[in-house]
Amino acid sequence: MGILLYQSIINFFLGIIDSAMKTTFLALSLFVFFHLPISSASANEQVTDPVPPSPLIPMKSIKQLCLDIGQKLGSVDKQDCLQQELTSDGGRSTEGYPLAYKVYPPLEGKRPLGKVLLMGGIHGDEYSAVSIMFKWMDKLNLYHSGLFHWTVIPNLNPDGLLQKKSQRQNARGVDLNRNFPSKNWDALALKYWKERTYKNPRRYPGPSSLSEPETIWFTETINRFSPDVIIAVHAPHRLVDFDGSINAPKRLGNLQLRLLGTYPGSLGNYAGVDLNIPVVTVELASAGIMPTDAEISRMWVDIVRWLRKEIPRK
Ligand SMILES: [Zn+2]
Repeated sequence: MGILLYQSIINFFLGIIDSAMKTTFLALSLFVFFHLPISSASANEQVTDPVPPSPLIPMKSIKQLCLDIGQKLGSVDKQDCLQQELTSDGGRSTEGYPLAYKVYPPLEGKRPLGKVLLMGGIHGDEYSAVSIMFKWMDKLNLYHSGLFHWTVIPNLNPDGLLQKKSQRQNARGVDLNRNFPSKNWDALALKYWKERTYKNPRRYPGPSSLSEPETIWFTETINRFSPDVIIAVHAPHRLVDFDGSINAPKRLGNLQLRLLGTYPGSLGNYAGVDLNIPVVTVELASAGIMPTDAEISRMWVDIVRWLRKEIPRK
């Protein structure tokens, strides 16, 4: 309807201008039409067309990342972050933050029981899920004994966290935990979003699976590292969720196992179900308030105890 109306307006003007100008005018019109904001169609559909990536934003340093994390989080200061000596392999967010990580490698003369990928902050408004990663890295810094080979990613969604007003989604408005290429993504992800969440922008799975730099990088990291288990930290549902074919942890600290099922495009669906890599989802009790130091330690002890029991996979 809008297109037809637009075409007749163009035709009207084409009729009254001389032919030398026609080509230029038509080209300009087409350009304008295809660059009209989506909002002219419907405000609701705006989220289906996220802002394109900004390749011109230069990559920020780990130092800058730590500065900004220190400014944002009450429980992690700049120094806490810098002293972790996080590294980057060039993976970056849309806004140019490095997708930083730390490896605790096998130690000489000791073969690890397995490889563990520990990740926090896939949802940018879950502050505690990033802060606790730094507390747990402090423990690994002290006690890493080579029992497991760890890769720790404290903040998979720096753009969501480090905006002025932190948000669950990444800078392009995509819920990264709905953007993984689970087998059912094409059939179900957008359908589920429309029919079950009524296009809640906080659950937008993206225009296609793996449309986001963060999920592409994390998926590559899974392929490269080939973990025996993935632990993903969230808040604030106060529970442990699990996807995989080994025994789930019944309890981690005060958090008890409660199976929630999977969503199209979630990490649990992609890694836990499709790739058969067990995924433990730790849902802390509060997004804004950290567990006590004692509880942080108890959870850690319980995680390691569970890993020792279940990994290597039988
Ligand atoms: Zn979450």
